[in-house]
Amino acid sequence: MRPASLNGYFKDIETLAGIGPRNKAHFLRLFGRQDSARLVDVVFHMPVSVIDRRYRPHVVDAQDGQVATLEVEVLKHIPSHNRKSPYKVLCEDSTGNLTCAFFNPHRSWIEKQLPIGEMRLISGKVEHFRGEIQITHPDYMLPIDQADEMPALETIYPLTSGLGIRALRKALFSALKNVPEVNEWHDPGIMKRETWGTFKESLLQVHSPSQGSDIATNSLYRQRLAYDELLAGQLALALVRDRARKSSGRPIVGTGAITKEILHHLPFNLTGDQQKSFDDIIADMGKKEAMLRLVQGDVGSGKTIVALLAMATAVEAGMQGAILAPTEILARQHMEFMTDLADKVGLKIDLLTGRNKGKKRADLLSRLENGEIDILIGTHAIIQEDVTFANLGLAVIDEQHRFGVQQRMALAHKTVEGADLLVMTATPIPRTLTMTAYGDMDVSLIQEKPPGRKPIQTKVVSHDRLGELVSGLRRALEQGQQIYWVCPLVQESEVLDLAAAEDRYEGLKKVFGAKVGLVHGKMKAAEKDSVMLQFSEGDIRLLVSTTVIEVGVNVPNATIMVIEHAERFGLAQLHQLRGRVGRGEKQSTCMLLRARDIGAVAKSRLQVMRDTEDGFVIAEEDLKLRGAGEILGTRQSGMPEYHFVDLEEHKHLIELARDDARMIMNKDAGLETPRGKALRELLYLFEKDEGVRLLRGG
Ligand code: ADP
Ligand code: MG
Repeated sequence: MRPASLNGYFKDIETLAGIGPRNKAHFLRLFGRQDSARLVDVVFHMPVSVIDRRYRPHVVDAQDGQVATLEVEVLKHIPSHNRKSPYKVLCEDSTGNLTCAFFNPHRSWIEKQLPIGEMRLISGKVEHFRGEIQITHPDYMLPIDQADEMPALETIYPLTSGLGIRALRKALFSALKNVPEVNEWHDPGIMKRETWGTFKESLLQVHSPSQGSDIATNSLYRQRLAYDELLAGQLALALVRDRARKSSGRPIVGTGAITKEILHHLPFNLTGDQQKSFDDIIADMGKKEAMLRLVQGDVGSGKTIVALLAMATAVEAGMQGAILAPTEILARQHMEFMTDLADKVGLKIDLLTGRNKGKKRADLLSRLENGEIDILIGTHAIIQEDVTFANLGLAVIDEQHRFGVQQRMALAHKTVEGADLLVMTATPIPRTLTMTAYGDMDVSLIQEKPPGRKPIQTKVVSHDRLGELVSGLRRALEQGQQIYWVCPLVQESEVLDLAAAEDRYEGLKKVFGAKVGLVHGKMKAAEKDSVMLQFSEGDIRLLVSTTVIEVGVNVPNATIMVIEHAERFGLAQLHQLRGRVGRGEKQSTCMLLRARDIGAVAKSRLQVMRDTEDGFVIAEEDLKLRGAGEILGTRQSGMPEYHFVDLEEHKHLIELARDDARMIMNKDAGLETPRGKALRELLYLFEKDEGVRLLRGG
């Protein structure tokens, strides 16, 4: 249970004056929350900039383009003659005239705001316009005795439509009054060395800065908050790991009989790196402590077979294996790949996704519980509460970066009885990021690609040349090749994404006819699968899609990948998409379509894609060019989302937090000391309480 001392942070925002059911919806949208927004969501919402209103010149001295605060007397109102020209209010101080301009104001409102003959404090951006000194739509127009309603340094926040800056700030500052100071969870040593203030002081300072630089990511205050957040993450991961390690781990030692058979039936030999990863895994599994290993291998490097061999090893030892895939399509593809081999070597495998319902599901669950299933493949349906294994030895999470900490922990719970955990990720993540996402995991790398792959030719083409491109595709289709066509991300809206993809689909169907298919995230799983199946069987030759195909699908005959508005994608995401082709023997091509006018950074990013196929190089470049937060593509990534942390700016803090967490675990793994108790609060505050729950279990 969350300590009562933190209750202030978790009160509903409706408890604040001025927030009711109507404007609450805006806050929910802004914070990406489902049905309740809490004060913690508001006070953790960080400013993006500061407007400095301390510049208080006389009217004649007010510099063009500057935000200024002017003390003036209202002289007269000059209503506009037509809708195009503004309503003007003429004001003056001892040095000259100021014109306040308004487009279509309510007459009564403006007369009340600026009554003739009264003094007003007016703040806004000054423009010198046709000999006049003017402020259009001032931000503030206050009677002198209400001057303190205007912040000298006004923090500006990300907003959402329907929610203005005034309303947000009002909610924020009343929330700040309501949230309590916390018990210090940091060591006095680090507090002193870093000259940090308390948690609440730091929070206050960022929202009411004394200078603009206070809100910057490298300010003392932001650093403290970022460190808190990183430490919460590292500590939660460390607790999970510690628990997994200490849990009644049992050595899992296979006989090698089944894996040998599998290798015998494979149409290829393992690459050196695949073999090495498998060896690492066997060694870990053989230990009494539970395994927590990350297999990081570029897209197409052949991680699936390594997972199968590992799970088969568990089966050899009389236990079960499970693999968790992020999407239905991918789970099915694993099923397909493994079914053939499983039949040959006598492994009983089955598939559990959200689509298994009713009696069939119940039947599957009972076979799982009786141990009649050796290996279970599935989506997150396999971590639901009522899914019970007879004897789960090894759990594999595929394409892990799509899963949040929550799911990772849910699986950890299932595997608490000593199951080993193997995590596989395709996106090459730079080391610092790996650390924030996984904490201290052992890592095996698969860098070597299976032999015989031809490099993918990547071309960057301006959108203007779409016509040419389409005729080129006609030839390719005639030669029997298959094509992926990925439509762009349009802002953050799936609806718009979909519209773009549908338009493109209609357009291409006019050119190429029935060979064209469409798949998108809004389709029912069954429809999606049927389209994917038609594509992999060659009935569909050109597949238009939103980014749903990103992860893992395998159609070796597809040799051309077209990505529209490639400049809108993260590099890592482009790399994933491109990895869908180049899987067969034939030469493959990736066409990156870009908007005609793109900036220098966007250009050099696309150049990186053209010049290399090395996922690690791409990830590092992406980090340099775009900043860590976006490296996985903001939207799809299940990377932890941070309130305070900027992964690039706070890189140095990541390692500190990791070391700190490690030290805490060494000294006080049960979080029982006074500092330990405060650290529990830290975990609750950042909603990493799964970590605490594990503690309670033992
Ligand atoms: P990923 O690492 O992206 O999950 P997959 O496991 O899907 O990659 O493998 C991609 C393709 O490479 C599959 O068709 C797989 O059968 C094939 N493959 C895997 N390992 C080898 C190998 N050692 N030699 C040849 N082909 C391989
Ligand atoms: Mg894969």
